[in-house]
Amino acid sequence: MQTIQRDTFWMISTNYKLTLYILAAIAIGFFIYGFYRRYRLWKRGVREKVRWNDVKANIGFFYKMVIEQKKIKRDPLYGWMHRFTSYGFVILFIGTVLVMIDYDFKIPLLKGKFYLYYELILDIFGVFFIIGLLIAMIVRVLKKRERLRNGLVDQAFLILLLLIGIGGYIIEGIRLTEAENSYAQWSIVGYALSGLFQGSSFFSIEYYPIWWLSHSILAFILIAIIPYTKLLHFLTAPINILFQPVKRTGKINTPYNLEEMSEEERYESLKIKGVTKISDFTNWQLLSTDACTECGRCDSQCPANNSGKPLAPRSIVMKIRDHMQNDEEVLSFIGPEELQSCTTCGACVEVCPVSINHIDLILSMRRGLIQNQIIDQEAENTLVHLEEQHNIFGKPWSDRENWSKGLNVPVIENVEKNKEKEGA
Ligand code: SF4
Ligand code: SF4
Repeated sequence: MQTIQRDTFWMISTNYKLTLYILAAIAIGFFIYGFYRRYRLWKRGVREKVRWNDVKANIGFFYKMVIEQKKIKRDPLYGWMHRFTSYGFVILFIGTVLVMIDYDFKIPLLKGKFYLYYELILDIFGVFFIIGLLIAMIVRVLKKRERLRNGLVDQAFLILLLLIGIGGYIIEGIRLTEAENSYAQWSIVGYALSGLFQGSSFFSIEYYPIWWLSHSILAFILIAIIPYTKLLHFLTAPINILFQPVKRTGKINTPYNLEEMSEEERYESLKIKGVTKISDFTNWQLLSTDACTECGRCDSQCPANNSGKPLAPRSIVMKIRDHMQNDEEVLSFIGPEELQSCTTCGACVEVCPVSINHIDLILSMRRGLIQNQIIDQEAENTLVHLEEQHNIFGKPWSDRENWSKGLNVPVIENVEKNKEKEGA
């Protein structure tokens, strides 16, 4: 009876094998260096410790956002696209790691029944992966989602992933045309392709090593570029969702407790510490900007953006990410009017699939503006009127209630009087 096992490096010469290991080492070197570079930039930020209670609270949220992809699937087409590509990618990645364990670490896993299921599952998820990528490409080309930017680089990433997916099937198909084994049908796609490849000189054993090496090179290019591109979100998005201190929509982080300050009347000693340069952000805030996928959901939901104000939350996040390298002054790349246009409504945070807290970023920088004595003229006038006339409209104090005339607005004083009357 035929032994069921994976024949890694089938028909591959020693020279090709050596080339593969050298390329793998280079790609991994690029990856580690790139990731370390970003890590050092995050470390520049103010240290904000991981609180394990936060992580515990994040586990359920992580399941909903990363596994279930709850926010992404609100858009059904894009939801399917993302689940197909991400589940496919993860399963194919796990499959590759198992090959390494089996061949390089000499732990024979890929044999017998396990190997048959392995082939079947990988072939199915490979199809999901390719379908997902095709949907993503078509949606971008046909401009079906206005929020998406369709630059050459975005399409290049998709093409690279697609070529890797298709290449895997091609080498499997050629292998199955030549290697006679009784369990080839478990590799459903490869087996179907092997039928098509019969008699072809291009998809033949002669060209197999070239197909095999080109597939490996594309996979290594992907590994090498991840930390230098927005593909870094493959790693930073799950990290951000799981470890980021919990600040869900509506919860605003303040560097002081206003209630305590007012009780103890310590306003004079209040020192506002805001963000004026990159290294004033916390390390988690900096990491979170590297999780941005540039999907544009935040822009599409932002009332300030939609009403023509000079604010686009995606740009705020991307600008911080892109200026992290040189500890730059925030005002050199983000204008005060952008920060002052935010209404803190939280729509962007609510919709962001990778849990970036735009409000937290924007308010930190707004405090930086106050620190630099830059304040919105309208807000300043309101505060001055409040201080001097006790009337935000700058009219005499006695006219404070004028705006509510005829609107039937309950006045506290009258409410209290009514209560007293009712009590009597
Ligand atoms: S919180 Fe600010 S940036 Fe976010 S959606 Fe609302 S207005 Fe836009
Ligand atoms: S911040 Fe979030 S919602 Fe906005 S573009 Fe980035 S990933 Fe998308």
